[in-house]
Amino acid sequence: MKKYFIITIDTEGDNLWGVTDIKAEITTENARFLPRFQALCEKYGFVPTYLTNYEMAHDGGYREFAREGLAKMTLEVGAHEHAWNQPPYYPLVKSPAHRGKPYLTEYPKLVIREKLRRLTSLLEEAFDCDITSHRGGRWSFDKRIAEVLCDLGYVADCTCTPGISWEGQPGWSIRSKGTDWSSWKGTPEIICSGVKERHLVEIPVTVINRGKGTVPAWFRPNGHNCETMLGMIHYLKECGTDYIEFMIHSSELMPGGSPTFKNKGQIDKLYEDIEIIFESVKEAGFIGIGLSNYARLVVDKKYGGRS
Ligand SMILES: [Zn+2]
Repeated sequence: MKKYFIITIDTEGDNLWGVTDIKAEITTENARFLPRFQALCEKYGFVPTYLTNYEMAHDGGYREFAREGLAKMTLEVGAHEHAWNQPPYYPLVKSPAHRGKPYLTEYPKLVIREKLRRLTSLLEEAFDCDITSHRGGRWSFDKRIAEVLCDLGYVADCTCTPGISWEGQPGWSIRSKGTDWSSWKGTPEIICSGVKERHLVEIPVTVINRGKGTVPAWFRPNGHNCETMLGMIHYLKECGTDYIEFMIHSSELMPGGSPTFKNKGQIDKLYEDIEIIFESVKEAGFIGIGLSNYARLVVDKKYGGRS
């Protein structure tokens, strides 16, 4: 069985953790730090997917960087929305208690469609390519979003965090809550089969649940989990899943762009860890692939190459 390595980068503004004012101005300095990451991916023959949101799509430097990679076919650009600052704006009634940022699932279907449609055409114009992969902000997803994505021609979604529920995390309006992914496994699944043989494949981020009472292990570097990730590669090489999905935020690659990596030293250590991990992934025989191409393989496998 061939095994694949998918790299997903939530490509969004600087240091959005802890920003509670949903109208605050957002900077995109972190775009300047992406070429270093891209070079490392290329060194190992991996094809990262930059799941890009509204503010990043407007950054001139990022546009140039991504267009260059698209021309060389060394990266993919997908979509990532933060429902609270993705036009069109739509007022939700705020819960009187202090709540979290709005989830896309809190909006009416018509608004969900319009937000995703506008983001898709913004990205398609900015990068002059089809946009066919998606991850929802705050891991938010439901059937309506799946249907809209399928209609818009998407083939891959990677919002799923298998075995994890975000229901304890409130959104903006009364009784709003995050998506419950607790019954999902870490394997790809065709979740929407639309007209004209269109399919949307859910490709969960790699998370291993180690039993009750333990913290799930994410395939996402945090500055002190290199050993854990190496163990995960070893485990995933032997188990039935045929892919590993790595995740990081673009802002985590800039010193001070996230609360996790505050200075240059921490960023250099992050890169050391990533290189050790990439080396090990390659050694284990995983092949680099973009999200959409992996989704196409899943569909081909099921329907015998007639997608
Ligand atoms: Zn995000």
